This record gives sequence, structure tokens and C-alpha cells, in this order.
Amino acid sequence: MIFADLSEYFEKLEATSSRLSLIEILSDLFKHIESENEIEEVCYLVQGRIAPFFEATEIGMAEKGVAEAIGKAYGESKDHVLTQFDHKGDMGKVAFELAKEHKARASDITIDGVVKILTEIAKTSGEGTVEKRITLLSDLLKKVDAVSAKYLVRIPLSNLRLGIGDPTILDALATVKLGDKKQRHYLEGAYNRTSDLGLIAKTLWSAKNPVVAVEKIEKLEVTVGKPIRAELCERLPSPQKVIEKMGEVDAQYKYDGFRVQIHKDGEKISMFSRNLENMTHMFPELIEGAKKQIKAHSAILDCEALAYNPESEEFLPFQETTKRRRKHGVEEMAQKLPLKAFVFDMLYKNGKSLIDEPLTKRLEILADTINGDETLIPTQTKTIKDAKKLAIMLDDAITKGLEGVVIKKLSSKYEAGGRNFNWVKLKRHQTGELKDTIDCVILGYITGKGKRTAFGAGALLVGVYDEKQDMFVTVSKIGTGLSDEEWRSIKEKSHGLESNHKPARVDSVITPSVWLKPEIVIEVLADEITRSPIHTAGRKDDEPGYALRFPRLVSFRNKDKKPEDATTVKELIEMFNQQGKK
Ligand code: ATP
Repeated sequence: MIFADLSEYFEKLEATSSRLSLIEILSDLFKHIESENEIEEVCYLVQGRIAPFFEATEIGMAEKGVAEAIGKAYGESKDHVLTQFDHKGDMGKVAFELAKEHKARASDITIDGVVKILTEIAKTSGEGTVEKRITLLSDLLKKVDAVSAKYLVRIPLSNLRLGIGDPTILDALATVKLGDKKQRHYLEGAYNRTSDLGLIAKTLWSAKNPVVAVEKIEKLEVTVGKPIRAELCERLPSPQKVIEKMGEVDAQYKYDGFRVQIHKDGEKISMFSRNLENMTHMFPELIEGAKKQIKAHSAILDCEALAYNPESEEFLPFQETTKRRRKHGVEEMAQKLPLKAFVFDMLYKNGKSLIDEPLTKRLEILADTINGDETLIPTQTKTIKDAKKLAIMLDDAITKGLEGVVIKKLSSKYEAGGRNFNWVKLKRHQTGELKDTIDCVILGYITGKGKRTAFGAGALLVGVYDEKQDMFVTVSKIGTGLSDEEWRSIKEKSHGLESNHKPARVDSVITPSVWLKPEIVIEVLADEITRSPIHTAGRKDDEPGYALRFPRLVSFRNKDKKPEDATTVKELIEMFNQQGKK
């Protein structure tokens, strides 16, 4: 397919405000693609990338460089392009207008042709990199029409933002190759094991018919180098409820750092965050630790990384640890704030997946595989069947400055991407009242009167994630309690996310003054969850939705959470049902 045709599909995808049409447009696009290689490329491109999300392949061009490339392609100065960019706030629109003025015409450059050049840009290194990248991009722009230019320049800037979630792509793949989006469940296991949509698509395209396709997909196994989607926790209100529901359990401390999946493949170490981002280069001390301490040729470990002082047994708070999530000054920060990785699970060893083994067996293998506890520290675990003992452990965890405990079913498999009662978290304040926070996605803002007008917003419209429908649904408006600093920060973060129509994956009764593409995740504390007819979270026919009472902003979470990692409707309803129960 030529790139200009793909860009026409991008145009349609960007314009729609319905999720069903997203699936229809994507399915139509996929139907026109024949080769395995091309479908793989398209799956990454619709998400604005040239490789899977977890690969560190970044095209690495800043606004100035892209502006220069646009200028060179259309005979304008870089400054002129940058001035236009200041006006329009979107480099894509600037490229589109200039390309139109210069009557740019499409050549027959294919999708593969474009991807090859973008890959070359990404791989360029050494002396003169910036100039070489600019030349490659401007030469490429000369080969495409205005609509293609619009989407093309957004890719190196990492802001294509078509608003398509992974489940929506899976729906479209299932529609085309398995006959119906309802067949998506056949693809979900492989997706949870490999996190690689391109690989799933390529595998589907390599099969002659749906039966063979499903067989091939089911054979896609856990692979070192591809992150496994994390298993997550359910909530229960008290140690008593935990023991009642789960019987004898394995209890572990809940460390408050960030999740890191460490992959070892011979001497090659890679690390991924909970939202599947590649974090390998951020933590040199963990790379060293993994090389030294893992006694296996290949392995995958599930860990929580945080700063810890073994002498004083002090765990540093999350706000400190999170300073390590940065791309620059890595070595210096590694000296200042070295991390330890508390290893709580082992998912792969020496070429074999362990995810179907029971927890007890995985923990035994883990204990046998890690040498010492210098940097990688195997988590202490306790088998408990008595609620009192569990309550003591929870108190002990809190005294130590930890977040609480995670309780796990002894016989459970590792359920990649799952959140169920195999893992349950008990936190500090969980004594019945709602004290656990909720991760919300900002969906828009409502222009305010008075003081707030200076920042252009009086309230935020926020929502949670409906994972069944792959939609964002509203739970609250947040107005009071935000400091001027926080408003400013929200304003900055939302720059470029404004949309002139309701984003396709948003369901809302309230229409805000400005819609925002669902990207910014915030942590919110509320007094209570109530039922409300004006919110769409969990709303069914005549039944009202769920809403937050007295919500307030606790922190921004967009560094470690994708919008799809926000609290789900299912979790919200469970929290509602547990309110007030001890
Ligand atoms: P929270 O904000 O409560 O951490 P979350 O939505 O980020 O919630 P949960 O599923 O609620 O994630 O809690 C699980 C998280 O706790 C894991 O993702 C992991 O980062 C962290 N964690 C800390 N210690 C453990 C442990 N021993 N076992 C499993 N997860 C742990």
C-alpha cells in the first residue's frame, strides 16, 4: 500500500468520535493489506511508532529539527515554521498547510518505503546526526502529499495521537482474520504474553484460515526481550476478609517504588515498566546486579525497584524513588540514589516459561536462581492462614514504612494482564473507609469564572477506564482543591491534547468546554463513591453511573501509567461494594 493511502485512513481515524467507527475504519484498512511485513508495520504506525512500544527505538528528533526539515522541504526558513507552530500548536498542521501551499504531490512511496527511512533516521548516530536526520526527513517530505506530511511529521515527535487503544486494534484484527470482533479473546492470551501487536498481526496474516490462525496465535509463547503484561491486585477490606476468601496464602511486603520486569538473555539485560516502556538505560546498577546475581542463562523477573538503605533498613518514599525515572543524568542519579530490586516473582528460566507453574514452585525456582542480595533482593514471603497473623504482618509492614502487603494464592498461575483474587493488596488505611486512591484520566476541562480564568479552566472532567469496551467513562468533575501550580501544570501537560470533537473512545453525558484526548493520568482521593445519573462509569440503561464525592488531586501519574492503566470500572464498582465493610 502506498503511504498516501494509509494517510487517508489516518485522516478518517482522527476525525471520528465513535469507537465503533474506529474499528470499522481500521478493519477496512487491514483488509487492504496483504503482506505479513506490511501489516506488522501498520500496527506500529497507527500507534505512531515504527517498532513495538517496548522497544527503545525512538526516532529522536526535537521540534526544532523537524521544523528545519519542513522548512527545507518547502523552501521556508526554520523560524517561519516555528512561528507557525507557535500559532497552531501542532507541527502536523503546519506541515499540511505548507505542503498545500507548495502543491506537494504524492509519489508512490509505500508504507515500507517510509518505515525504512524512519528507521534509518532512528539508527543514525555519531557526528553530524542532527543534520543527517533533518536531510532524511526533508527528502522524505518531498515525496509525500499534504495529508501524508501532516501525519509523517508527528511520528518523529511522538505525537501522532490517533487515540487508538490496543484492544481496539485487536478488535479490528479479529474482525478481519477471525470473522468477528467477538473473537478477540483468542488473541488476548498471546497479547498478554508478548505485548506485541505487530507480532500477533503478522502471525494472523501468515495463516491460511481462521482455525490455523488461532492455533498459531496460541503457540506464541513468553519470549525474553518482550515484556509480559503485569499481573495486578484486587482489593479486600481487611485481613479477615482475605483469609475468609483465600484460605492459606502467601503474604509479601508491598513495596512502594515502581514495577520493573527484568529480562536476561545471556549477557543482554532489558527492563520494562508496568506500562511496557523500555527502561533499560535508566538503571545501570540493576543491569550490573542482574548480570552478577542471576544464575541462569535466560530469565524474566518481576520486581519492585526502590531506593533502600540495608544498614538502616530504610525504604525511601515513592516521591524520592520516582526521581530515577529520567533519561538524562542517569549515572549521576544512580550514584546518588541507587536502587534495589525486590524480586517477587520469576516468570521464565533457561528458555522455559514458568507462568503456568503454581506460585509456590515459581518462588522456589526464584530462590534457587538469585545469588545473594546485594542489588536484587528476593522478597521475603510468609505462608499464613490466620487473620491475626496477617494483621500483625500488615502492621509490621506499615511500621517499616511500607505500603502494606500483597497476598497471593499459593496455587495460582501467573495471570499475565489479569486483575483478580489471585493477588490481593491490603494497604495502610484500608479499614473500611475509602482511603485507596483512584487513578483517573483527564477528559476535558470546563472554563471557569473568576480566579481560575487566568488558567482557562474552572474544573476538570475526569474518567476511569472501561476495559470491556475499551472506552473512557466519566466519574467526576474536579475543581476545588487544586493549587495554582497544579492548574498550571495541567495546562502545560494538556498542550496539544485539545480536540475539537469528543474523542472516539470517550463516553460522556457532560460536554466540557474543551475536550482533551485521554492521556493524562492523575491519582485522586475521594471521600466516597456514590451513584449518579450524570456520570457514565458503570451506567447501564436506566441505572445510574458511579461518581466520586469530594475528589481531590493527589499526584500526576502519567509517567508510569498509560490511560488504559487507570482504575477500571470493575474496580470502581468493587470499591463501591466494599465501602463501609470492615
Ligand atoms: P497502587 O497504586 O496501589 O500501587 P496499582 O494500580 O499501581 O495500585 P496494584 O495492582 O493495585 O497496582 O498493586 C500492585 C502493585 O504493587 C504492583 O504493580 C507492584 O508495582 C507493587 N508491588 C509492590 N510489592 C509487590 C509484591 N510483593 N507483589 C506484587 N506487587 C507488588
